[in-house]
Amino acid sequence: MSRVYNFSAGPAALPLEVLETIRNDIPDWQGTGMSVMEVSHRSKDFVSVAERAEANFRDLLGIPDSYSVLFTQGGATLQMSMAPMNLAGADDTVDYVITGSWGKKAAGEARKFCNVNIAADAADENFTYIPDESSWQRGDDAAYLHITPNETIAGVEFHFVPAGDTPIVADMSSTILSRPIDVNRYGVIYAGAQKNIGPAGITVVVVRNDLLDRAPLNIPHLMTWRSYAESGSMTNTPPTFAWYVADLVFQYLVDLGGLAAMADVNSRKARKLYEAIDGSGFYSNPVREDCRSWMNVPFVLADASLDSRFLEESAQAGLANLKGHRSVGGMRASIYNAVPEEAVDALIEFMNEFERVNG
Ligand SMILES: *Cc1c(COP(=O)(O)O)cnc(C)c1O
Repeated sequence: MSRVYNFSAGPAALPLEVLETIRNDIPDWQGTGMSVMEVSHRSKDFVSVAERAEANFRDLLGIPDSYSVLFTQGGATLQMSMAPMNLAGADDTVDYVITGSWGKKAAGEARKFCNVNIAADAADENFTYIPDESSWQRGDDAAYLHITPNETIAGVEFHFVPAGDTPIVADMSSTILSRPIDVNRYGVIYAGAQKNIGPAGITVVVVRNDLLDRAPLNIPHLMTWRSYAESGSMTNTPPTFAWYVADLVFQYLVDLGGLAAMADVNSRKARKLYEAIDGSGFYSNPVREDCRSWMNVPFVLADASLDSRFLEESAQAGLANLKGHRSVGGMRASIYNAVPEEAVDALIEFMNEFERVNG
């Protein structure tokens, strides 16, 4: 077997321990003589997976009973539609802070359902910063404020939670579980699984219970958060395999010491990599220092004509998927929970050597 260090932005690396458990489980899961993919989602065995997944997820993030945890399909992208559908009427106004491509997409979806006020937009500087909160033009009566705490493409991250009583809806797809957060500060948190949770196909939504009552009656059953909350997320057949893997990942994180332990490692990984970039005359990262992402680190080479050589040689060195998003160019190292510190060390070593030879 030969595993590489995988810096993919998503679907992304999974812990080897989890993959090995899956491999062992597949033919005969928990003595059932079947794989987890072949049993009813309503069977006792599967329901206990679902329950353990929710219990561990709640534990990891410290989610109070006043919030529901939902497991849905359709990715984070469907939540960009479900948030306005569930929280705002056609006459309502909602605030969006746009700090990257995903937030821009979310605002575009919301416009189909209600009035969107762009409270701040960092497009003027290519999404390399988070506009100062004091400059935001928020509505007086917004139904909610939408933010993207970590913009996966430009590598920009909020290191604060916006103030005020307006419920905050946060797309945490690429930062969830990277460190502890105070869930009480948010109204809704959503995250597609394929960055920091598990395989693509399942999405986690955390909703403050009082917000479940806002949904109008004429939206589709499968797009109503309340129907997931009332059915244990078994409104229809859920993506059982992805849910099972998410459960294994949550258990793995609990066993490692939870999110405080992850924050330790993740902050160290990010700091090392930014230091290596900033300390070189060859690599650079354009993001303002106080808004840099812990999870997605874009960087460009001083000479873009060396990009293809960098990608080829890094792949040969066992460092996979470093190509930057097409809208930004250059490189991007996504260093989610399942990317070990050794991977970051190996990347830095490769970068130093590449600079020595080509710089
Ligand atoms: C990947 C990503 C998405 C899109 O997720 P899907 O599950 O493909 O819908 C949305 N928002 C952010 C911040 C992401 O990183």
